[in-house]
Order: sequence, then structure tokens, then C-alpha cells
Amino acid sequence: MVTPAQCFKKWGDPNTRSDEGKYMVMWDVPAELEIGVIPKRIYCNRAMIVPLTKAFTNLIERGFVHELKTWDGCFNIRAMRGINSQSLHSWGIAIDLNAAWNGLGKTPTLSAGFVKCITDAGFEWGGNWSRKDGMHFQLMFI
Ligand SMILES: [Zn+2]
Repeated sequence: MVTPAQCFKKWGDPNTRSDEGKYMVMWDVPAELEIGVIPKRIYCNRAMIVPLTKAFTNLIERGFVHELKTWDGCFNIRAMRGINSQSLHSWGIAIDLNAAWNGLGKTPTLSAGFVKCITDAGFEWGGNWSRKDGMHFQLMFI
């Protein structure tokens, strides 16, 4: 599991945003992946481009893209209460999907096949955590 401390070491302190320009990119999603609610452009860490391409491709090829109802964001600097509680959204390496139906602490509604499309692409799923965060996927390795 990627920790906030690892991200801090690799990319710096997101709260100052001083290094953001070095690792954050406005990714122009390839046209063939712009299906359903998959965004046309995503502001994300450049480390996300390959895994996200794979995740979207899996959703399309395996027939789960229709289960993606809402794209609920990637980059979002969350309030810091000690470095170990900093969300990985702060470095642009996490995404939230179908948030309205997969709230924090609630039983996730995503299908196993849908989840596997994304975890097979190199993401860890928050729905497996003890405090379930079913909308949340973050990079497994950095
Ligand atoms: Zn999240």
C-alpha cells in the first residue's frame, strides 16, 4: 500500500503546491476511451496515465463501462492532520467513482467485475479497507 509518507518523499508537500507543476499534468484522454462518463481531460499525476488507460480499456473491453455512472474526481488537496492522514488525492494518484452509491463507511455497490477492471490495472480498492471507501481507487505502486 502506498503511504502518504512515500508520496511526500517522492513529490513533496502538496499543501505548499510548490512542486505540483513537476508531476501533475492535464491528461488529454484518448478519444477511443471517451465513452460514457469517462472524462475528456483529467488533471492527474503523470504516474496515473498508464494505469488509468489500462483501467478504462478494461472497463470498455470487458463490458463494464456502463456501470461507471459518475466520475467524482482525482486531484484534491485534503486538509492535513499529520502527514499520515493526507489523502493520496493530494498528489493526484487516487480517483473516486460512483460516489453517491459508495459512500465512506457504507457497503460498496460496485460489481466485482467492475472493481477487477480497475485493480487489474494497478489500483488498490478502498472497498477492501476495514473502513470501507467503496468509491476510492488509488495506485498500488509508485
Ligand atoms: Zn477517494
